[in-house]
Amino acid sequence: MKNEKYDVIVIGAGVGGPTAGAILSKKEGMKVLVLERADHIGGRDLSFNMSDMDEKSYRKTMGKAAYTRITKSIPEPEELFTRGYLKGWSFEVGIHVLMITDRGRTNTCLTYLGKPLDLYPATSAGWFHDGILYRFEKGSERGGNFPWMDEEARRETGKINSEMVRMSPETAHSYDNISLKDWMLQRTKNPDTLEFHFVNATMNTTINSPDNISAGDNILMNRAVARSGYRFSYSGCSTLGPPGFVQIPQKYCDVIGENGGEIILNATVKEVLVEGGKVKGVSVNINGNDEIIECPIVINSGMVNEMFTYIPERHYPKSFVDKVNSFWRAGICAVYWGLSKPVVNEHLTFVPKIAGVEDGFDSDVRMGFWNSSGMCPARAPQGKQLLDAYISMRDEESHNPKLVQVAWERMNQYMEDHYTGFKENLEWAMCTVSDSLVPVAQAPFQVGDSKPRAKDPYITGLYHASDSSECTMAANDAATHAGIIAATRVSGHDYLSDILPERIRY
Ligand SMILES: Cc1cc2nc3c(=O)[nH]c(=O)nc-3n(C[C@H](O)[C@H](O)[C@H](O)COP(=O)(O)OP(=O)(O)OC[C@H]3O[C@@H](n4cnc5c(N)ncnc54)[C@H](O)[C@@H]3O)c2cc1C
Repeated sequence: MKNEKYDVIVIGAGVGGPTAGAILSKKEGMKVLVLERADHIGGRDLSFNMSDMDEKSYRKTMGKAAYTRITKSIPEPEELFTRGYLKGWSFEVGIHVLMITDRGRTNTCLTYLGKPLDLYPATSAGWFHDGILYRFEKGSERGGNFPWMDEEARRETGKINSEMVRMSPETAHSYDNISLKDWMLQRTKNPDTLEFHFVNATMNTTINSPDNISAGDNILMNRAVARSGYRFSYSGCSTLGPPGFVQIPQKYCDVIGENGGEIILNATVKEVLVEGGKVKGVSVNINGNDEIIECPIVINSGMVNEMFTYIPERHYPKSFVDKVNSFWRAGICAVYWGLSKPVVNEHLTFVPKIAGVEDGFDSDVRMGFWNSSGMCPARAPQGKQLLDAYISMRDEESHNPKLVQVAWERMNQYMEDHYTGFKENLEWAMCTVSDSLVPVAQAPFQVGDSKPRAKDPYITGLYHASDSSECTMAANDAATHAGIIAATRVSGHDYLSDILPERIRY
């Protein structure tokens, strides 16, 4: 490898960097090298066939690239892993559903590269209001058909939906630095309308408090789903068939490999080398050996929150360093339930409140859960049911053992109280917590122009492509967006317009 010459080095085999690398290798003929510190491809997109996992390797794999840890389980973790409870089950880090199914950015970009995904869309939803479950079949909520709302609430909800859907991306961005709460309160005081939009926004952004959600970024997400012809109950999201979400970064890396590039694992970039304001290459430790690899272009896809651990701060003004260091993260508490038979019929279900300020959280805490094996049967042994549930937690909340305990107890209790047969048919349960589902939470002053730009303004030849750098919306679709933006900036060719239709471009 020492004698190899590369046009581009990508730091990280997650989603953002490999998206850019795949476009540049396949469309621009550039020779791409991906350096990944973990011993596997995936980043935070990890999926597990639990039959193959022991507790130690599961904890290690989840922790290293996905910032996620097991906190509780039934039975205790040791027994759960050694007594065969998890044989035949497969699940993801966190919950992992993909926005807008086949019409979202991730599948659109992978289809452009000749690698479409194997998708299992949600086609029904449930919504709890005052403890009663309302079921929605294939977009039956169209036209504001929410059975618990009176006429006024339906009218207000519909009016706000249509303002979001009709809005131009420029107008949506003008609300980037306004909280969703303020934006909504300027339009309505109706409690059911507020609840509907606040819960929906939590599911979009992984942030509970509407004070902390950027109105602009949330509008862009709702606009993208509706303009794609989908609704929250119908194809607003999907899961992926085994091997699961890890196939997203894997497919991008496959494109790089098929076009003359290389992916090296166990390769930790120690420093991006810069001379006279220009990138010279990287210093990297590969399997314990230090090397220098020269290259004029480096695409960083590690989280920007951690960029100064390998891109020296001295190259940046203090104001930029302070801003990056001040970004806060949106994390989650995710619970998996393995049931001996199906007890939940809907694909996605939303619960407006399971805990709140009175428990020490910063806001009402909402729960969403996915009938994972109902969407993709291969996730559970035949006849059984896998449910994936989550609540949002701010980064500091996710490190508070008392709040994690409250979350775990309430999530279990809600299911026991509202689903006949849940308790009797529960074979096992596991709770995991991550502080980094969205490393730069979609909060006012953390979205749009506030995120570090794809083309680094201070170091020539350095680009950023991750869900925490220049991009809109959240998670995989954000990371793919960032990768397309970076490929556009590196090549000068407008891949954003080539790949993404207007409804998901901005
Ligand atoms: C618990 C959880 C649940 C989630 N749920 C969803 C969901 O439902 N839907 C969805 O779309 N997305 C979800 N996501 C988010 C999704 O996984 C991320 O948005 C996506 O993986 C981001 O890709 P990325 O390339 O920006 O970053 P990452 O996936 O974090 O990839 C960055 C890579 O860079 C590597 N790296 C960092 N520093 C170095 C270095 N110095 N040298 C070498 N390598 C380095 C890391 O090891 C990592 O592999 C979830 C994430 C988590 C953690």
